[in-house]
Amino acid sequence: MTIFSRIIAGEIPCYKIAEDDRFFAFLDINPVNWGHTLIVPKREEDYIFDLSDEELGAMMVFAKKVAAAIKEAIPCRKVGVTVLGLEVPHAHIHLVPLKNEGDMNFSNKISDPSPEKMKQIAAAITAKL
Ligand code: 5GP
Repeated sequence: MTIFSRIIAGEIPCYKIAEDDRFFAFLDINPVNWGHTLIVPKREEDYIFDLSDEELGAMMVFAKKVAAAIKEAIPCRKVGVTVLGLEVPHAHIHLVPLKNEGDMNFSNKISDPSPEKMKQIAAAITAKL
């Protein structure tokens, strides 16, 4: 079971943003920028391009809804989309609110984000869903 499956199962806490029957969204615990959100299929699959065309499409449609809420809640120009998958072997999309290119720098994460701020960010995004 991946760490993301344990989060989805409620065994590990997270700052939840949204879920439906197939996908789950929550804040990245080490955000590159405030509002950095992960979109994960509930079904475990490591590599995103091993998902079926249908599941990949549905995942992006789910991400689109979450991205719209992030864009309304967090001052930004656009919500950027990245896939890395080098750390957690459970396919996921990173959504990151961007004002400039540097806001998507995975080598420069926000250090020690406070739980209060993370809670506030999650509440602001979910309020726009
Ligand atoms: P990637 O697999 O895309 O290279 O990186 C995995 C991402 O998941 C990282 O940005 C990391 O901060 C995030 N992450 C890893 N473990 C946890 C966790 O337990 N909770 C949350 N919310 N995010 C995590």
